[in-house]
Amino acid sequence: MPHAPLPLPVIPTRPAINDVATHQLDDRPREECGVVGVSGLANASELVFLALYALQHRGQEAAGIVSYDGTYSRVHKGAGLVSDVFDAATLGRLPGSTAVGHVRYSTAGGSSLENVQPLTARYASGDMALAHNGNLTNQIDLRTRLVRDGAIFRTSSDSEILVHLVAKSRRETVDDQIHHALTHLEGAYSIVVSVDDTIYAVRDPRGFRPLVLGALDGGTVVASETCALDILGARYVRDLKPGELIRIRGSEVEQLPPLPTPGRPAPCIFELVYFARPDSRIWGKSVDRARRAFGRHLAREHPVQADAVIAVPDSANSAALGYAEESGIPFELGLLRNHYVGRTFIQPSQRDRDFGARMKYNPVREVLDGKRVVIVDDSLVRGTTSRSLVRMLRAAGATQVHFRIASPPVRFPCFYGIDMPTRGELIGSRLEVPEIEKKIGVDSLGYLSLDGMIDAVADGAPYCTACFSGEYPAPLVDVEQGLSSPEGPGTC
Ligand code: AMP
Repeated sequence: MPHAPLPLPVIPTRPAINDVATHQLDDRPREECGVVGVSGLANASELVFLALYALQHRGQEAAGIVSYDGTYSRVHKGAGLVSDVFDAATLGRLPGSTAVGHVRYSTAGGSSLENVQPLTARYASGDMALAHNGNLTNQIDLRTRLVRDGAIFRTSSDSEILVHLVAKSRRETVDDQIHHALTHLEGAYSIVVSVDDTIYAVRDPRGFRPLVLGALDGGTVVASETCALDILGARYVRDLKPGELIRIRGSEVEQLPPLPTPGRPAPCIFELVYFARPDSRIWGKSVDRARRAFGRHLAREHPVQADAVIAVPDSANSAALGYAEESGIPFELGLLRNHYVGRTFIQPSQRDRDFGARMKYNPVREVLDGKRVVIVDDSLVRGTTSRSLVRMLRAAGATQVHFRIASPPVRFPCFYGIDMPTRGELIGSRLEVPEIEKKIGVDSLGYLSLDGMIDAVADGAPYCTACFSGEYPAPLVDVEQGLSSPEGPGTC
């Protein structure tokens, strides 16, 4: 059937509420994101909207949905939170029982709406919509070859590489085109891609990023985390396996030949530490339970005499509860977090050194005054927030501040899709514990050990611990070829 023109992306006319007039999108290639696909369910775009809403923590910079109604693909995407980008009217303009969605992580920098996913393309076999979570480690190599071959890229996103590879594939069926294209990729990817009314979902052979399969009323849902299934009332069926490629049409889910598995699986342990929501199940385990176990191990490894355990909310809540349970020191709500912080219009000159942290956190004086406090955070990255928080706690009357980190020092950049600063900016790669204690102004600092962390989720499963250990399970092709910096993609 001849295709009608693909409508141009509809960019919302009203600005996002957490947006300033000059809202800019970062066009550096990296993808710390959430992805969703819905098949065989009426008004699929509304379901994708809800699922993206549940996955908002995986990306606050931009959101997009592409729907297919049997004849036409339609797309709507824009900058801001899911609830800013979509409303009833925009969802009404995305009819059909097939839809794919994406949320993208917040950063600051250059500008490019083209990078907002799902990426769309019309090629010989149909209308394609692609949503990717992860980061390809051979993207410069592949892009250079494709460009030499005549490809014209519209975005700086590594995800577009797959669009070109599928479109170029000489294989006969879409199944084979997608499989063939995927075999060129190296690095981390959980991808949901639709071609007309068929959805494909895949995890890279090491399974760095999560992707779960759910069932709902005769239809199928795939999403980054189980919390997205919960909001829809969908039944969790299973996690996709590393290297697994499936084809979905309505309730029909077919396993296609898996991708070659070059090494051991390496699901990202940082998803458990920080990134995933505690009400999700990742790598077959509850994120909340894993974080509590990190906290309990931490309490055993770094005990201290104190009056209260508090968390850096919200990502460290579960770990702090674990620390409190194990140590017997009461858990208190000593820091509150403002959930409505967006970009601010306050000029830099009006900001003091703790301004960023004060916008986000406020101490509860009644809890802290005259107390010896253990503050638990999930991870230490640059050390900037921690320093400000410690000053806040002391100003609120804490007599001692003991910082406990429910993960080992982050010493190495992530090339597999977690937004991290470059190696030189990571406080754990530059300084040892006594120096960090001094720098952030604490009475003591204790990190969970790498063995302790692995022990806490002891199930014999291998993980990617590259940001802590420097052991990278998938080859860093671009770095090895001198095409990108070993310091890391350099992001947050
Ligand atoms: P800092 O004090 O500057 O080292 O920042 C540590 C805080 O950053 C912790 O509270 C973490 O929850 C949070 N964090 C860890 N990883 C990331 C990330 N990839 N993106 C944004 N925040 C993060």
